[in-house]
Amino acid sequence: MRDIREITIEQISTWVAEQGEPAFRGKQIAESLWKRGVRSFDEMSNLSLSSRKKLHESFSFKTATIEHESRSKDQTAKFLFSLHDKKKVEGVLIPSRERVTACISSQVGCPLGCRFCATGNMGFTRNLQSHEIFDQYLLMNQKSREYFGHDLSNLVFMGMGEPLLNYEAVMGAIHYLTAPRGIGLSHSRITLSTVGIVKEIYRLADENFRAGLAVSLHSADERIRQHLIPASKTNPLPELQTALQYYVQKTNARITFEYVLLHQVNDSLQDAAKLAHFCKSFPVKINILEYNETGSLFKSSPKHKRDDFLNFLMDKNLIVQSRRKKGEDIDAACGQLATRETEK
Ligand code: SAH
Ligand code: SF4
Repeated sequence: MRDIREITIEQISTWVAEQGEPAFRGKQIAESLWKRGVRSFDEMSNLSLSSRKKLHESFSFKTATIEHESRSKDQTAKFLFSLHDKKKVEGVLIPSRERVTACISSQVGCPLGCRFCATGNMGFTRNLQSHEIFDQYLLMNQKSREYFGHDLSNLVFMGMGEPLLNYEAVMGAIHYLTAPRGIGLSHSRITLSTVGIVKEIYRLADENFRAGLAVSLHSADERIRQHLIPASKTNPLPELQTALQYYVQKTNARITFEYVLLHQVNDSLQDAAKLAHFCKSFPVKINILEYNETGSLFKSSPKHKRDDFLNFLMDKNLIVQSRRKKGEDIDAACGQLATRETEK
């Protein structure tokens, strides 16, 4: 049986016509799914009982549900989502003074195995579908209303998985989240974080991607980067640089570089100088991430090293942000997702 959220709006219209129902019914169904965000046929209260029954008989309606939730003392909340096939992904709700950000997953696990990342260490199970990404938004938006009294303001693809290895489904979800006939979020409130898959960055540029793009650089030294991110061997820095120049030229966007500071690995002033040099080619913002120690391989840089690194970049007139850990007590920080469940 086909799933109602795995077919296009045009296919829904065709089905409606086959049922001998008026054409506006297709619009009503699409609106219920992607604008109102219903999660069952029974919630489609604008349809007659007989229309709902026909839908029931013709389609499945797969949904993700919240299986477990933990809340940090800093208000961060982590959710374990159970998918229709019982596979699990995690999402995090991060409140700050003026906004609530949801960090969502794009894959169950990740095939890229970055050495410092817990998700990378758990291996890859499968890609998420658009509606599974969309459901993370719906469920966390409900929680945002409940806990903080307002809708989610921002969405970042920084949970489990590499979004550009699940290109179609991620773009499908972004479409439903931003379309006027969907949720209608502004593109500027969504950020996609990638390890830097060169081929797909060209595709984003050519398809005029309008959400924010963050690239996990972590080192501007090829040898160090390859050690941390095995996938960078097939996406080397010069090629990444050229792809990003193309991207910036096409989209007029500013790229965000993410850089996780690892003690005695990529945190020297020489490393900072290399990073500053790499950033010369385009308008960038640098996001310095504090490392969440997930194994014994790497240590987080001490505060004085971090300050020196930041000051060096700021002296070069670069835009630098330093992101503190959130939700540490519930393992909800970047790169920590899903470890506990897989350990069980
Ligand atoms: N696959 C994408 C998006 C998910 S990871 C990517 O790699 O960009 C989101 C961010 O968390 C990336 O910048 C990633 O490098 C970083 N990250 C992974 N493990 C981390 C850890 N243990 N501590 C801090 N940041 C981590
Ligand atoms: Fe995958 Fe990103 Fe983790 Fe690397 S850092 S293993 S790309 S989720």
